Amino acid sequence: MTVVGKSPDCYVAVIGAGPYGLSAAAYLRAARVETLVFGEPMAFWQNQMPAGMCLRSNWGASHIADPQRELTLDEYCRQNGNHILKPIPLERFVDYGRWYQGQVVPDLDKRHVRSVEADARGFKLFMADGEEVTSRRVVVAAGISAFATRPPGFSSIPSALASHTSEHNDLRTFHGQRVVVIGAGQSALEFAALLKEAGVQVEVIARTKTLNWVGLHPRLHHLGGISKMLYSTRDVGPAGISRLVAMPHLFRRFPRRFQDRTAYRAIRPAGASWLQSRIAGVPITLGRKVVSAAVAGSQLRLRLDDGTERLVDHALLATGFRVDVSRYPFLSQSLLKQLETVDGFPVLNRGLESSIPGLHFLGKPAAWSFGPLLGFVSGAEFASNELIRSITRNNGSN
Ligand SMILES: Cc1cc2nc3c(=O)[nH]c(=O)nc-3n(C[C@H](O)[C@H](O)[C@H](O)COP(=O)(O)OP(=O)(O)OC[C@H]3O[C@@H](n4cnc5c(N)ncnc54)[C@H](O)[C@@H]3O)c2cc1C
Repeated sequence: MTVVGKSPDCYVAVIGAGPYGLSAAAYLRAARVETLVFGEPMAFWQNQMPAGMCLRSNWGASHIADPQRELTLDEYCRQNGNHILKPIPLERFVDYGRWYQGQVVPDLDKRHVRSVEADARGFKLFMADGEEVTSRRVVVAAGISAFATRPPGFSSIPSALASHTSEHNDLRTFHGQRVVVIGAGQSALEFAALLKEAGVQVEVIARTKTLNWVGLHPRLHHLGGISKMLYSTRDVGPAGISRLVAMPHLFRRFPRRFQDRTAYRAIRPAGASWLQSRIAGVPITLGRKVVSAAVAGSQLRLRLDDGTERLVDHALLATGFRVDVSRYPFLSQSLLKQLETVDGFPVLNRGLESSIPGLHFLGKPAAWSFGPLLGFVSGAEFASNELIRSITRNNGSN
């Protein structure tokens, strides 16, 4: 189907060139929808995750979806004559994403979108260099970077002493320091492993009473038909739940309380089982909360709820990301006023379209409406299919 661009610049503008933006572009362009894509390719993965990290998702859940299923990790390896170890190293995934971008959006516009406003013809996007682009629709695929969460007790601590994990990709900064990692998810445990391996003195402190691990029962994945009944290839959540969250249209029909509880169980803080041996020997304090943080000379004094203290050079806050689309700096106040949200998430309908016609959200912001799958690379196939169906269906009326 050919969609003729009716707006001056393009029919769809995609903000963000991570897995979701790139996948959406592949589907849109395959359907010959006039599409422009903005942003540095794979920038979040390249700049805001630690060098040396590996993906927690398995191989089958780490392909960036394309309509012909041609741009898989396997095809990337075949074309580039190389082999990727498992778990997938971060730098290889970034390289795969850039290869994918070269195949699908060689004309990617790497500029940053400074702001988006409604316009009589749809939307007006203002680039960081001042140029304006108009588009009938806007697809926000801008990821979670804007939603990094710092616990309130750390708000006045300078970033030289306490920083969010997403502020780091080079852990050499911590050489010779004493570091506390706060959190118990994959990010916390992987930072702890990488710091320990770099010879940094590190301790993990978390509120949870026990650490949760993913992938402790590999045999369950090798039981043929039974495994297929228990686990979806999307690799989000434990046995059974994995299947349910892989069907977002079904998942969203359940009562909200059930959705919330199931989503939490699918993505609760947990580390990949291959991290267990790598953090052996790292002191881990569980069931404890940091109740205060104060600058002490060139160091940081942390007081825990058991009355003990830690004097450290740095606190790494592996405290995750909390979606709040009002923190996307490019959405204008007037758009935000019209946007229906719940707990910071946009309320989305079919096509991942928000209450503002023509404004779509992909990735984690879509998780309130379509479930936890949308927070992972493997959710991009669902998101892109939804988007393209809705856009090509609605095209006649636009
Ligand atoms: C440490 C860590 C490990 C993870 N491991 C996994 C994993 O193993 N498997 C998995 O599926 N998921 C993993 N995730 C989750 C991962 O972030 C998402 O799956 C993935 O990034 C979603 O892709 P995305 O395209 O929505 O977002 P992103 O990859 O973040 O892409 C969004 C892009 O938009 C760009 N952007 C933002 N604002 C603008 C703007 N105004 N103008 C232009 N560009 C803009 C950003 O620079 C960014 O490149 C991990 C997350 C973290 C933090």
